[in-house]
Amino acid sequence: MIKKITSVSGMHDYLFPDTLLWEHIENVIKNTLKNYGYQEIKLPILEKSELFKKNIGEYTDIVEKEMYNLLDRNKDSLTLRPEGTTGFLRSIVENNIFYNNRRFWYNGPMFRYERPQKGRYRQFNQIGIEIIGLKSPYIDSEIIILTNNLWKKLNITNNIFLEINSIGSVIDRQKYIIELILFFKKNLKFLDSNNQQKIYNNPLRILDSKNKNIKKLLNDAPKLKNFIDKKSTDKFQKLCEILNIMNIKFTINNYLVRGLDYYNDIVFEWKTNSLGTSKTICGGGRYDKLINKISFNKDKNGVGCAIGMERLILLIKNTESIKLDINFLIDIFLIPMENNYILKKILIIGELIRSNFPKLRILTSYLFKNLKKQIIQAIKYKSHFIIIIGQKEINNNSIIIKDLYSKKQIIVPENKLILNLKKILKNI
Ligand code: ATP
Ligand code: MG
Repeated sequence: MIKKITSVSGMHDYLFPDTLLWEHIENVIKNTLKNYGYQEIKLPILEKSELFKKNIGEYTDIVEKEMYNLLDRNKDSLTLRPEGTTGFLRSIVENNIFYNNRRFWYNGPMFRYERPQKGRYRQFNQIGIEIIGLKSPYIDSEIIILTNNLWKKLNITNNIFLEINSIGSVIDRQKYIIELILFFKKNLKFLDSNNQQKIYNNPLRILDSKNKNIKKLLNDAPKLKNFIDKKSTDKFQKLCEILNIMNIKFTINNYLVRGLDYYNDIVFEWKTNSLGTSKTICGGGRYDKLINKISFNKDKNGVGCAIGMERLILLIKNTESIKLDINFLIDIFLIPMENNYILKKILIIGELIRSNFPKLRILTSYLFKNLKKQIIQAIKYKSHFIIIIGQKEINNNSIIIKDLYSKKQIIVPENKLILNLKKILKNI
């Protein structure tokens, strides 16, 4: 027996009509980004492993446990990108495009060796939004205003909520981490072994634990907000003011720290409760020191976020916030009745229609002769119109156009086909 080869665990195929929904959502996002002056940047999926090891943070879950590393034929260590920001900055520095536009976006698959479950996969897609070289906290609010606008357009505002926090500067955070380690050491018995390991490597990650006992313990833990200097507090205050002016609701979550090491000051997450447990659809924040890590002579600010496409699509499907019309998947179905001269004729007519109506979906049937079967096929494909040419039509230089929805049929002279189609399509 032939052993069936299945897809890799945590990696999925997306089939129609999900692909249609995906395309629609992606277009809404792309058009909105253009509308705010963002430029697309296309980036490689494979990068040198050291790029991620150095910049995401050695003790983050991603670098420690989740990266897909491989050796190429030259024994160079490469990694399937687990996230987009580091590769984006590598590109910005390498291509020296700081002087250019400062707002960018990219789109594509990311890879993380995680435990697959609903909304958590090993290959997933993100749309990343990044702004470089701009310091003002108004820029942080721009990203939040923009994403808020996206949720409006995707009709999910009621199913998504915003959490923000300030994690201060790297220096403030180091002071805080010392206190936090002391606290956890005193309360070691309340931590499970997984979190005990994090104490020295990445204690901040314990803050966003989902474990109930740990959540309780955190009530007594030192608070990051008490370690943050005035500059950071002011920036955070400004952001809150702008969000209020723009009527964007938010809550301050003191435990929001984000999974990657490189953030500072403002971090935020758009979350939903409509996918079983609470899940983040979009997360981001400021990363002012990251560019400097990648290139020593470039001291630039950065702020960005990433939208998880699969989770967003799951949310839109669950809440039925968008209903795509899939009554007609094909606009015109061409039916030649003979596999000889008539087929050649209809192939030429097909190209003529396509060049006049580049947005239409046009299919040709190759069943020949049995008209009934061909009409059944056209209905199966969800076609709106059929165009039929048989011997009689050839003799008369005419063409039959039938509307499968209204069941009405007209016969038009061959040289008036495009004219008639224009009239018919205007009315639908
Ligand atoms: P989580 O806390 O859910 O693991 P994260 O903090 O690791 O998320 P980010 O690295 O900020 O996520 O990525 C941004 C977004 O990408 C997430 O909010 C989510 O929508 C999506 N995402 C992250 N990891 C996965 C995954 N394994 N499968 C599907 N989507 C994901
Ligand atoms: Mg994660």
